[in-house]
Amino acid sequence: MDIELARTWVRGIGAAVERERERLGELDAAVGDGDHGTNMHRGFDAAVAAVAAMDPDSVGAVLTTTGTTLVSKVGGASGPLYGTALRAAGKKLDAERAEPAEVGAALTAALEEVRRLGGAQPGDKTMVDALAPAVDAFVRAADSGGRLGAAARAAADAAEEGMRATEPMQARKGRASYLGERSIGHVDPGAVSTALMMRALADAAAE
Ligand code: ADP
Ligand code: MG
Ligand code: MG
Repeated sequence: MDIELARTWVRGIGAAVERERERLGELDAAVGDGDHGTNMHRGFDAAVAAVAAMDPDSVGAVLTTTGTTLVSKVGGASGPLYGTALRAAGKKLDAERAEPAEVGAALTAALEEVRRLGGAQPGDKTMVDALAPAVDAFVRAADSGGRLGAAARAAADAAEEGMRATEPMQARKGRASYLGERSIGHVDPGAVSTALMMRALADAAAE
């Protein structure tokens, strides 16, 4: 991954979030307060602008700026979670280029940060249910010599599968947990946005 690819990734997330804004809102209306589309759109709109305006000296700087922007612009749970996760990933990538294994280590740091901050376990019906299998698939592909595009594709596929698997789960973290059993039967909106982010990485790497 180089600096330009990192920027393309952030722009790709911005476009995906804009396209899926309404659906993310509807999913969040079913189990939460309906603002996940607006939150993600506001955050990534600002992040795309911040990343376009900067002159980054490393891959990590792009991700760190994106994370800082999300933390400052998004009030909901997802802003601090994605924001600190991206900052943790950025810290690991202090160079103009990163090998797939290094990107894997950065994604691992992002997942650890989400879990540390949010306290969610796999199965709690959160973004962790998409992110954990995605990171696992990415690292496995990178460790067996896979290129960035292949690793990112494996990660996006695993994220989408993890996202779909949240439907029958009962939420144990975040607002959706207030619904108890009524949270069953809906896909978790944060798992959907995580899948969008991983698919945007796969698309950016394939360009
Ligand atoms: P809010 O719930 O504050 O309105 P959003 O709607 O933007 O924030 O984000 C909701 C998403 O955040 C959920 O669908 C879930 O994936 C994720 N989430 C909420 N709490 C946690 C947590 N403690 N750990 C991990 N993810 C969480
Ligand atoms: Mg919400
Ligand atoms: Mg909210």
